[in-house]
Amino acid sequence: MKARAFLKRTKKCGELRIEDVGNEVIINGWVNKRRDLGGLIFVDLRDRFGIVQVVFNPTENPELFAQAEKLRSEYVVAIKGVVGKRPGDTRNSNLGTGDIEITAREMEILNTSKTPPFVIKDDIKVDESLRLKYRYLDLRRPEMLRNMYLRHKIVKAVRDFLDNEDFLEIETPMLIRATPEGARDFLVPSRMSAGKFYALPQSPQLFKQILMVSGMEKYFQIARCFRDEDLRADRQPEFTQIDIEMSFVERDDILGLAERMMKFMFKTVLGHDLETPFPRLSWEDAMNRYGIDKPDTRFGMEIVDVTEIAAKTDFQVFRNVIEGGGVIKGIKLPSCAGYSRKRVDELSEFVKKYGAHGILPIALKEGGNFKSPLAKATTDEQKREIIEAFDAKEGDLIALLAGKADFVLPILGKLRLEMGNQLDLIDKSKFNFLFVIDFPMFHFNEEENRIDSEHHPFTSPKTEDMHLIDTDPLKVKADAYDMVLNGHEVASGSIRIHSKDLQKKILEIIGISSEEADQRFGFLLEAFDYGAPPHGGIAPGLDRIIAEICGKNTIREVIAFPKNTAGDCPMTGAPVEIEDEQLGVLKIKVKK
Ligand code: ASP
Repeated sequence: MKARAFLKRTKKCGELRIEDVGNEVIINGWVNKRRDLGGLIFVDLRDRFGIVQVVFNPTENPELFAQAEKLRSEYVVAIKGVVGKRPGDTRNSNLGTGDIEITAREMEILNTSKTPPFVIKDDIKVDESLRLKYRYLDLRRPEMLRNMYLRHKIVKAVRDFLDNEDFLEIETPMLIRATPEGARDFLVPSRMSAGKFYALPQSPQLFKQILMVSGMEKYFQIARCFRDEDLRADRQPEFTQIDIEMSFVERDDILGLAERMMKFMFKTVLGHDLETPFPRLSWEDAMNRYGIDKPDTRFGMEIVDVTEIAAKTDFQVFRNVIEGGGVIKGIKLPSCAGYSRKRVDELSEFVKKYGAHGILPIALKEGGNFKSPLAKATTDEQKREIIEAFDAKEGDLIALLAGKADFVLPILGKLRLEMGNQLDLIDKSKFNFLFVIDFPMFHFNEEENRIDSEHHPFTSPKTEDMHLIDTDPLKVKADAYDMVLNGHEVASGSIRIHSKDLQKKILEIIGISSEEADQRFGFLLEAFDYGAPPHGGIAPGLDRIIAEICGKNTIREVIAFPKNTAGDCPMTGAPVEIEDEQLGVLKIKVKK
């Protein structure tokens, strides 16, 4: 019997340096590459900590050399050898271990490997479904390892920061009664109460509020949230939030905390100094200036309103729109006056996708030539006013859109983003944070002809708008806020309602009667009867923040085992059908 299971490592591949020269070491790892050169075999051995070169010499040890000839990529091996300095011209400055190599003395092949379906290296051009099916191989690639490393460091920074701020990390249940966050629930059938179902939490919202009633004062959780929704917009059915709730606070206490947390995270993980305080923009300003409630402020191209000027012109189309209560707004496309007819038509095609008739272009040609269908209907003075409003100069193209403000703004917002990308105006090295505040409390759901909460129904109206709740609820602003990073909503939160009566009233406005409220949220309403403190919170979305830090477009790149866009796991095959027998125990029958 062998005295040991295998040659266990005394050093990690990536940590060997010139100081180790002359030492005998044992390393364990995967064969990254084998090269046969000039009668020698070179093996790059890889572990989590890096790569080191091992040399096999046929004259020194023919038997060992023969063994090395069998090595293939991704074999797992243990090698004992002596660290030596690489000859001058073979040094590799791209590698931490590039000054040294190991001359092998002994080797154990711990496991073999099939040829992987893709090469284990960065920048591979492989279908994502293959990467997800063989995620364990994908995760061996250096950039995935780096993403996982950064994810760990970010979570650790969050924990350290919040611990230092006196927060308690508290776990809340996964099997719960549904919490409305605006998406569909994932349901879990109960065997013991057959016919009844738990829901997986869309967020720990009600539990964190109840923890405030419990006197915990400062709670956080790295919380998994489950939402059964459309996955197109780079969402995942399960994702992670840094869930936070605090008592005896006002909005600015929470925003300040979120700001400090981000600052700490970026400094510790990236060594990057974020400028604080983050800019704050009211929801209304965000919509007016950027046409979206999560503006990407890494570039300008803000929306400009020229309704007043347009009203003075003889351009009948605009005048009709304005008389009907509409507006004329637009954006300036810098240095695009030379666009061909076809390119300008493409801009119109773009806005038509969203229901607009097309854009009205103004090209500022050489010598102050105002080339536009508007030209004949405007005086020189009006032309000058328009140019000034856009702060435009010769060579710029202005794209105008006419219609109702809430129709025009989001379309211009989309055009702005599209053109910002096309014209390469976005500085990808920036981290532009901002808070959007003063969201509307409700919105009108046209399809279902009813009022819905804009955030969630536990959000408090702004104190100064309380008087409008009964008379004009759609005018009420909420004490709700989002944190935005580079055009992504990376956190949302609010000051909560902590009075039973107000909570019931808000639920009633969104169509939940007093009886239904008692039935669905009775536990929360009852808790409010026992000294609920004023409280509020925020929930930064961890995956998106990490993706931005890692410079990735999709959160799937920073989640170890994500689902694909169809909600499937290509590695395990989930979701799967369940045998009738197992369903029978749950008293469930699947309709074919
Ligand atoms: N629970 C909310 C969400 O998941 C965030 C919050 O209000 O804290 O969006």
